[in-house]
Amino acid sequence: MRDALGLMLASVVAALVISAIWFWTSSPRIELTAPNSLSAAQVQRVAAAPPFKPLTAADDVEITAAIPEKPAIRTQPGSACATPDALGVSRVVEIDTAGGPRFGFQHFKQLDFLADREVVLTFDDGPWPVNTPAVLKALADECTKAVFFPIGKHATYHPEILKQVAAAGHAVGAHTWSHANLNSKKMTEQLAKDEIEKGYSAVKLALGAAPSPFFRFPELQHGPAAMAYLGSRNIAMFSCDLDSFDFRAKDAAQIVNTVMTKLDKQGKGIILMHDFQKHTAQALPSLLQRLKAGGYKVVQMKAKAPLQTLPDYDEGLLKDIKLPVASVRSVGSVVQTVSR
Ligand SMILES: [Zn+2]
Repeated sequence: MRDALGLMLASVVAALVISAIWFWTSSPRIELTAPNSLSAAQVQRVAAAPPFKPLTAADDVEITAAIPEKPAIRTQPGSACATPDALGVSRVVEIDTAGGPRFGFQHFKQLDFLADREVVLTFDDGPWPVNTPAVLKALADECTKAVFFPIGKHATYHPEILKQVAAAGHAVGAHTWSHANLNSKKMTEQLAKDEIEKGYSAVKLALGAAPSPFFRFPELQHGPAAMAYLGSRNIAMFSCDLDSFDFRAKDAAQIVNTVMTKLDKQGKGIILMHDFQKHTAQALPSLLQRLKAGGYKVVQMKAKAPLQTLPDYDEGLLKDIKLPVASVRSVGSVVQTVSR
């Protein structure tokens, strides 16, 4: 009996040692996907968790008591949140964009769907190197979701960054092709349509998937003709409840202060920011902390169905821009000296 107990204990110890070795030798997998900002406590939690697939040496030993009720923190993209007290998402709302509903009380006082202390995070003008990835990291660290309104041209410059936005589970709408003011005197109906449709086709081309039928007017300038057109295309229009004015902030702290001051006064709202802006990217980690500390909850907006882009614009865009952007052929394979 004592021998059997000793053997069992030895087996358990051996299994734990093998598990630990297995874990540490395979730890680069975790470094690849986990943010670098894991606290010591979180690292301990990760380290204390058993491997997903027990080794065969441990198969014949009952060690169920050593397996915690909750499995190891999954650090794969799209998995459960790795931050225990993250801001997260309090609820997900699905938007039926039929007829072109309008959001944001700064201009459209129609659909008041947010409860007290609820916010929606929105980002315009990307995708852009450094700043957009920094925004994505800040959102991922807090396991929260936003809506992005990229500029079509920027999407063609940096499709790989826009793909990261969509892969992280954020909604990706559009913000015209070239950030033209759709309410200017020079703007014709045809030009406005071109700006809108080419913008969506560019986002689709960058993502390799259909965008969300969510639209934000550049400079929040909405004209009646463009609004009617968007309505006919069943695209939801976004103004905002709260403008961060991050594009003219002198530093990150000013953005945090502007947003929190307005939010504490208004109590809720769709927040307009720009992932294109350096100060916004720098401000986001502390802004999300302040939202959490203030008891604010993030609402994730999702479209009920994706937007069908127009084939004419998809094809026109392909002709317009030179594809592929980066040549994969070496100079030697293209240019050969055949005589001297
Ligand atoms: Zn903009």
